[in-house]
Amino acid sequence: MELNLLNQEEIATLRNLLSNATNIVICAHKSPDGDATGSSLAWMHYLNQIGKTNIKVCMPDATPDFLHWLPGHNSVIRYDRRPKEVEKAFKEADLVCCLDFNQNSRVDAMQEVLESSTAPRLLIDHHLEPETNNALTVSHPEMSSTCEIVFRLISQLDGYEKMTTQCASCIYCGMMTDTGGFTYNSSRPEIFYIIGQLLAKNIDKDEIYNRVFHNYSTNALRLRAHIILNKMKVIEELHASYYTVTKEEMAQFHFIKGDMEGLVNIPQQIKGLKLSISLREDTERPKTVLVSLRSCNGFHCQPMAAKFFNGGGHADASGGRLNCTIEEAEQIAIKAILYYKEELQ
Ligand code: 5GP
Ligand code: MN
Repeated sequence: MELNLLNQEEIATLRNLLSNATNIVICAHKSPDGDATGSSLAWMHYLNQIGKTNIKVCMPDATPDFLHWLPGHNSVIRYDRRPKEVEKAFKEADLVCCLDFNQNSRVDAMQEVLESSTAPRLLIDHHLEPETNNALTVSHPEMSSTCEIVFRLISQLDGYEKMTTQCASCIYCGMMTDTGGFTYNSSRPEIFYIIGQLLAKNIDKDEIYNRVFHNYSTNALRLRAHIILNKMKVIEELHASYYTVTKEEMAQFHFIKGDMEGLVNIPQQIKGLKLSISLREDTERPKTVLVSLRSCNGFHCQPMAAKFFNGGGHADASGGRLNCTIEEAEQIAIKAILYYKEELQ
């Protein structure tokens, strides 16, 4: 099966970048998810495999608990905890690999450090509209996940034979999380061919599923139930849904990072629903609302994320941020839904 993504010139550039690099930084977006963390660690494992020993995986902030089992996770350096170490890593780097994000601003507080680096940059990503000021841009929005791209790159670099179970597990994790357990964005035969290749590396796919998706605390499950029962609004005639989550509600259910992950997908279980919006108060910043959007049944939420929520992402899974109160955010969401009412009807 054809997995190669790079043409002759690009693969030569990649080989060149890698062979010239000694001190390598790998970084991903703020609030790293399964794909951001999985692809970063898989790429680290591959670089180890080809003899690179000085690799620093730098993340803007914490990964959720359900990803802490990922092989190599203990080597991740968090910018919010160890800024000096991250600054030093970027300063000394002779290659910076940016995984699973399209714009520098997606690394949030780490942006200045990233931009201050003069090292050549390799971007590996599947979001729309990437920044292209890189030594090599590997951008494929049609791919399920950055992890899928990483697998294909390793494969094209002849690294499959020596791929470790650890590396394969990281790749599987990101492919699985970015496709909701292979329920969307995952109908190309290549995806299942790759899963077969990963299984041949002895990954335990059922165990990975359990670790990621069956990891709620009782409180987290009750918080989710509360939102669906008491907070979810459904505009039936526009096939749209939204909910708000306040800091007080999160405190009441002892919220920890990751507890709300994927909740925005649940309203999509309503027959015919086209749009689901999550509005959640930021626990760290005042007057900040984190926005998640999901779409299906022919509606695409990415333009809405850009126009109304200062964000973007994928055609059917986008996000953004508002600097306002949760009440104001709710009004903006209603305005956004009405703006697209013809397409939502
Ligand atoms: P989530 O809803 O899971 O936080 O994010 C869904 C997708 O939206 C992510 O894959 C991410 O690319 C994109 N996204 C989330 N937040 C932002 C944001 O603030 N800006 C942009 N441009 N994209 C975002
Ligand atoms: Mn991703």
